[in-house]
Amino acid sequence: MSLSSLRASPMQTPDWDQIKKAIREQFGETVFHRWLEPLMLKAWGAEVMLALPTRFMKDWVEAHYAGRLTTLFRNCDPAVEKIRLIVENTLSAARPAAMTSAPAHEAHAPSAAPQASGLDDFSSPLDPRFTFESFVVGKPNELAYAAARRVAEAGSVSFNPLFLYSGVGLGKTHLMHAIAWHIRRTNPLRRVMYLSAEKFMYQFVRALRFKDTMAFKEQFRNVDVLMIDDIQFISGKDTTQEEFFHTFNTLVDQNRQIIISADKSPHDLEKVEERLRSRLGWGLCVDLHPTTYELRLGILHAKAEAMKCAVPEKVLEFLAQRITANVRELEGALNRIIAHSQLIGRPITLETTQELLQDLLRASSRRVSIEDIQKKVAEHYNIKLTDMHSPRRARAVARPRQVAMYLAKQLTTRSLPEIGRKFGGRDHTTVIHAVRKIEELRGGDPILSEDVELLKRLLQS
Ligand code: ADP
Ligand code: MG
Repeated sequence: MSLSSLRASPMQTPDWDQIKKAIREQFGETVFHRWLEPLMLKAWGAEVMLALPTRFMKDWVEAHYAGRLTTLFRNCDPAVEKIRLIVENTLSAARPAAMTSAPAHEAHAPSAAPQASGLDDFSSPLDPRFTFESFVVGKPNELAYAAARRVAEAGSVSFNPLFLYSGVGLGKTHLMHAIAWHIRRTNPLRRVMYLSAEKFMYQFVRALRFKDTMAFKEQFRNVDVLMIDDIQFISGKDTTQEEFFHTFNTLVDQNRQIIISADKSPHDLEKVEERLRSRLGWGLCVDLHPTTYELRLGILHAKAEAMKCAVPEKVLEFLAQRITANVRELEGALNRIIAHSQLIGRPITLETTQELLQDLLRASSRRVSIEDIQKKVAEHYNIKLTDMHSPRRARAVARPRQVAMYLAKQLTTRSLPEIGRKFGGRDHTTVIHAVRKIEELRGGDPILSEDVELLKRLLQS
C-alpha cells in the first residue's frame, strides 16, 4: 500500500471500526467508554484529525492518551506522523443548559474531573525518547539490555518476573519504557501497563479510602505485561506490599509478564516481606553496573548526534572522564553546554565547558571512589589491579599501592579502616603508614611528587 495513495484518497482510510476495536482492546472498557468512544475520525493521513464533542474531553485525551493513540494509528499505517484533536460539538446549538438529554459520553464528562477518574487509567505516560534504538549498549548494561529485548520480543512469558536493578540514573526506566514502546508497536493488542510503585501505592490507598478495591483490582485483570518501576518505594508500606503481592501472584498464575525495577537486588530490599522478596527473585535478576568511560563516551556521541550538535571530541572525552556518577548527570551536562552555546551563538570549547560545569565537576570530584583510584594508579604504574589487594610486598607493587592509599585518604571521605579493607583487608595502621610514607617521599622525590599530582588531577579535576 503506497503511502501517498493513502493520503490522496480518503477511500483508502483504514477501517475505522476496526481501529476503534483495537482502541477499545488496548485502553480497556472504562477508558474507552468514558473518553475514546466518542472520537470521530475527520481526516486520515500524515496527520490524523480526530474530533471530540467537548473541550474538556479533548484536553483530557490529549494529555493522557495522545501518545498511545498515535502509536496505535502508526501501527495501522506507518504514514501517520501525529494526531490532531479538535472540538466539534455537534450538539452545541441544541444543547439545553441542564443537559438532561445529553448522550451517554457527555453525561460522564463533566463529572469525570481528573481527581474523580483516578481509577480509569493507571499507566504512567511513557517518554518517547526512551526506546531500544536510543539506548547505548556497553559492557555494564549489555545483560540488562538483552534481557529487556528478549522480554519485549517474546510472544509469551520468558522470565517472570524480569527484575532490573541499579543505582540511580543508569537506565532502568529507559529500558522499561523501551519494552513498552516495543510491545505497543509490534503488538498493539497486548495490554501493557507501566507505573511507578509510588503510583501503585497512591492508587491503592485511594481505592481503600473510597472503598473501591474491586475497581482497583479490575484495572489489572486484562493486563498482559505489568511493569512497576522503583519497587523499593513500597518497602515498609505493609498493606500496599500485601496488595502488590496478590496482584503479582494473580498475574503470574495467569501467565502474564511482570517486569520490576528497584535500586537494589530483591535480596537486599529492606523492609520488604520475606515471601515477597523471595518471589521477586524467582525470575531473572539483572543489574546495570556503573558506567565505564567507553560507555559514557558512546552515550555522549549518541546524544550529541541526536541533538544534531557538533561537539568537539575533546569536550566529549572530557565529560566522559569527569562526569562519572550516572548517565542522567552526563546528559544534563551535555544539554547545558549545548544550550549555552546555542544561546550565545558561540562554538563549544573545552574552556567554556570547564567554566560552565564548575559546580558539577566539583560535586563529582568529591565522589572519586577507591576503585577508581586503584584502577588509575595501577594503570599508571603498569601493575595489575589485583596487586592492589595482594599481600605482595615487592617495592614495584608496594609503592603504587601506598600511593593509592594516600590518594584514597586525600580524595575520598572513607575512614582509615574502610580504606584498609578495600586494599585486601589491610589494617588501618598500614594505611597510616602508607600516607606518612608518601607525604615524606613527596618532599624529596620530584618524580613521585609529580606522579601523585598527575594522578590527583586525573582523578578529580
Ligand atoms: P534509572 O531509572 O536507572 O534511574 P533512567 O532510565 O531514568 O535511570 O536513565 C537516566 C537518563 O539516562 C535517561 O535520560 C536515560 O535516557 C539515560 N540513559 C541511561 N542509560 C542510557 C544508555 N545506555 N543509553 C542512552 N541513554 C541512557
Ligand atoms: Mg527510574
